[in-house]
Amino acid sequence: MTNIAHKITSILQELFEDIRNGGVISLHEPRFDGNELKYVEECIKTGWVSSVGSFVDRFEKDLAEFLGAKHAIAIVNGTAALHLCLVAAGVKAKDEVLVPAMTFVATANAVSYQQAIPHFVDVSEKTLGICPNKLSEYLEQIADIENGQCINRKTGRVIRAIIPMHTFGHMVDMDELNKVAKKYNISVIEDAAESLGSLYKGKHAGTLGQMAAISFNGNKIITTGGGGAIVTNDDEIAKKLKHLSTTARAYNGYKFSHDEVGYNYRLPNINAAMGCAQLEYLPDIIARKRKLSEQYKASFADVAEVEFIEEPSDSTSNYWLNAIRLKDAKLLEEVLDVTNKAGFMTRPVWDIMPNLPMYKTCPSMDVSNSQLLSSSIINLPSSYFLVK
Ligand SMILES: *Cc1c(COP(=O)(O)O)cnc(C)c1O
Repeated sequence: MTNIAHKITSILQELFEDIRNGGVISLHEPRFDGNELKYVEECIKTGWVSSVGSFVDRFEKDLAEFLGAKHAIAIVNGTAALHLCLVAAGVKAKDEVLVPAMTFVATANAVSYQQAIPHFVDVSEKTLGICPNKLSEYLEQIADIENGQCINRKTGRVIRAIIPMHTFGHMVDMDELNKVAKKYNISVIEDAAESLGSLYKGKHAGTLGQMAAISFNGNKIITTGGGGAIVTNDDEIAKKLKHLSTTARAYNGYKFSHDEVGYNYRLPNINAAMGCAQLEYLPDIIARKRKLSEQYKASFADVAEVEFIEEPSDSTSNYWLNAIRLKDAKLLEEVLDVTNKAGFMTRPVWDIMPNLPMYKTCPSMDVSNSQLLSSSIINLPSSYFLVK
């Protein structure tokens, strides 16, 4: 065992040995410390378990209020939320959508569901999300604006939208990104799946583009079992999204009909009930997650071989997943192996999108930062209840 694999393992032991009781410390676990059971029981006792019910409305209202957004629309999961954002942004077959090379595969998959083409862009070493400078230079080289549309000169296709993703809760430099998007008339859809509660210049993740998708999957900062939401300040888009997510139902007296091809993407009431309960103590969860990140930061302060990944300037991260970066990427496998064998779940970041078989032939800029980061970052156990 090298010195560093040993050092990281002993830091994890020092932090968590007393609470692990011989078990494994997982990467991210849900906990239900509030009114979850009470609200779910209410759904079951009243029969309101499915696509209609008071918890769905309440969840949307509470979420929008927490974010300081005009509208939140509860959706069946984060991936479907991303898909519907793209539909609402007018993304069509053969359009291109700019997607970070380093992200969870759902960001690119949502683009594919529209028969559109993900076009990969590189991320910044500081924010781990799309680098606006590199993006701007790249578009300068490959894009033209014709009739108000951004055209990829090489492929002739329209670049319709961009999806900045706030990796592990760390915010993309949204002011700079929005400037570039505005110049090229590209819609901005935030993938805020991991960043509920993170702030950029005092504004919530999810309120910084035209629309945003949030996830409430079991491993996210709060969970509804499975679930998601779309956030927007645009009244027209909100109305359209609600319509599309409920099979485009048009009421006409007792008869109901459908006026376009819609989607069955509404979040069930029973899931929204869990969400209402979790939202009640989300600020406390975030405070504890930030405290856990402080503990990690202190523990790694004197470890020269490792950089603890801190929140970017001008922002406040929810620290959904804590992460360290190894200065020597060759040791990644060994560190993962030793820590996991010692009972601490650590994991590498996702394989970058251009390396996946279905996305190999998609257009892409130079993605060397994404490549470097994905071969040297390790995520650490980050459940909020691990905090001392
Ligand atoms: C979790 C996640 C999603 C998808 O959310 P689901 O609710 O699991 O469908 C999308 N993008 C990113 C970056 C995620 O981490």
